[in-house]
Amino acid sequence: MKITLEEMCDELQKVNRVVVAGHVIPDGDAIGSALALAMILKSIGKDVRVMFDDNIPRNFMMMPTCEKIERPSEKIDVDALVIVDTAPDRIGKVLECVGDVPILNIDHHVSNSGENRKLFCDPHAAATAEIIFEIAIELGIKLTKDFAVCVYVGIATDTGFFQFSNTTAETLLIASDMLALGVKPNLVVEVLEQRPIEVVKGLGQSLNTLEVWHDGKAAGMFLDEDLVANLETTEGFIDEIRVIEGVDVSLLLKFMAKNVCRVSMRSKTVDVSKIAMQFGGGGHLRAAGCTLKMPFEDAKRTIMQAIDDALN
Ligand code: 5GP
Ligand code: MN
Repeated sequence: MKITLEEMCDELQKVNRVVVAGHVIPDGDAIGSALALAMILKSIGKDVRVMFDDNIPRNFMMMPTCEKIERPSEKIDVDALVIVDTAPDRIGKVLECVGDVPILNIDHHVSNSGENRKLFCDPHAAATAEIIFEIAIELGIKLTKDFAVCVYVGIATDTGFFQFSNTTAETLLIASDMLALGVKPNLVVEVLEQRPIEVVKGLGQSLNTLEVWHDGKAAGMFLDEDLVANLETTEGFIDEIRVIEGVDVSLLLKFMAKNVCRVSMRSKTVDVSKIAMQFGGGGHLRAAGCTLKMPFEDAKRTIMQAIDDALN
């Protein structure tokens, strides 16, 4: 059930003990939004725990209070679960951990349908972190630098540092407020872009797997088990190929485990969220992803075919 921002704020004020959770394979927006929302809720006296059923990538540990993020383990007793930046299908074991409690969902993904929960979704928001900022304003919270860093990282990472088509005038106004609160954009980017040497070398190897097909309109990198073995992260790899002249859809296919492969897609015109949704994934028009539960070579054939179909 979709609700308004004001209704979401009312709901947040009603609960006392909450878990805030974001999606597995967490990104800057999921983590930044969860931490910033937790700060809001704490400042109005709520008992809040932040949970992710995944490792937090090292670079994001620069966000204040990131070290307090917990992994779900034994069952806990709370009034509500607040899910940010995803629908409930991508939060792993957090669902079991909190049991059958009301769910409040704050998101900006067009693919979020909002069944069986109260959802505030604004697909025009560049990042969920923009919505968290609006919630803070609506609730009259005194904004801190720690809050600003989390919101800024969320917005900056989801907009490719203010380059993607989702960047709006509103995005830059909020970013401006975050800088006024003390965020140093150069320091943020320096920490976030750091990579171990192995990852930079791995990018070279990954680029060697590049294939271009569909008359040059599609480009993909195919990272099999051997290749990913030395890669701590593949964050940003897809950006290296989406710049190829004439390419509309870019793809990164990555081995995760036996019969589990991750797909990331970017596009200039094709709606890649539709391709991802065919395989139970989702995302945005121009950036989407899904998981294919099949051997690597089958996954490669399947996703290349789906991209062909979308381009036709
Ligand atoms: P990325 O390629 O950076 O992992 O993801 C691009 C976008 O698609 C992000 O907004 C992300 O939240 C979304 N996305 C990626 N994978 C999935 C998935 O498996 N399911 C859903 N619903 N969204 C995804
Ligand atoms: Mn997001």
